[in-house]
Amino acid sequence: MTGRVYLVGAGPGDPDLLTLKAVKALKRADVILCDDLVDDEVLAHARPNARVVRVGKRGGRPSTSQQFIERLMVAEARHGRIVVRLKGGDPMIFGRGGEECDALRAAGIAFEVVNGITSGLAAATAIGAPLTHRDVCHGAILVTGTAHDWEALARTGMPLVIYMGVARCAEIAQALLAAGVSPATPAAAVANATRPQETCIVTRLDQLAAEVEGAGIASPAILLVGRTVPGLEVAKEVEQHVGG
Ligand code: SAH
Repeated sequence: MTGRVYLVGAGPGDPDLLTLKAVKALKRADVILCDDLVDDEVLAHARPNARVVRVGKRGGRPSTSQQFIERLMVAEARHGRIVVRLKGGDPMIFGRGGEECDALRAAGIAFEVVNGITSGLAAATAIGAPLTHRDVCHGAILVTGTAHDWEALARTGMPLVIYMGVARCAEIAQALLAAGVSPATPAAAVANATRPQETCIVTRLDQLAAEVEGAGIASPAILLVGRTVPGLEVAKEVEQHVGG
């Protein structure tokens, strides 16, 4: 009998943000292929005899190759096992969920995707900023920090939620300023959203890089750039800071 694979989002960090469906999948799993941003408390939902394979980057060692992960998932499922592929945040947001679904489909393995709360949303909530608002923003853009037409993104006027961008923060801020985004635009960085060591800074775009460096904010972190809702503490603070 062929097994089944669950691609499960573990959420941004706080184990309480796991979905009930994720917990159910973990309880059924024979094998768990786990990224390393996942908290041990999440893995505590697994059966004691479940096999846990860590496939993320650890201690500077290169991460397990994507191809190896995909082959392992398929092989385990073909042995009739229930496999949970556990990823940080949501599996379909910068999580290579699409590639893994393709591999499973190609191999004819039954699978299901279980959403998790993506870290960009958790980061916005950490600073009290809704990403959309009926009166202010009618959308938000989730992007990686690498290689973009920042000018086109800036033109949308929508808040940017930038993943994997903190190391290139100065470059990104510079590109947005060059694209005509106002230097006084609210900007924030949130590292380790929802974890005990969460750190945030809220500032303006032209000071983002300096503040990120000053606060020692490093990966995993989300950068947020854009006007949030006026009247929010965050927005007010920034407005006062820039003199209205
Ligand atoms: N699938 C994940 C994203 C994986 S890409 C998700 O949906 O959240 C890895 C990037 O996610 C990191 O470089 C960082 O930008 C972000 N990230 C993951 N966990 C985070 C956290 N707790 N706080 C802030 N950023 C986080």
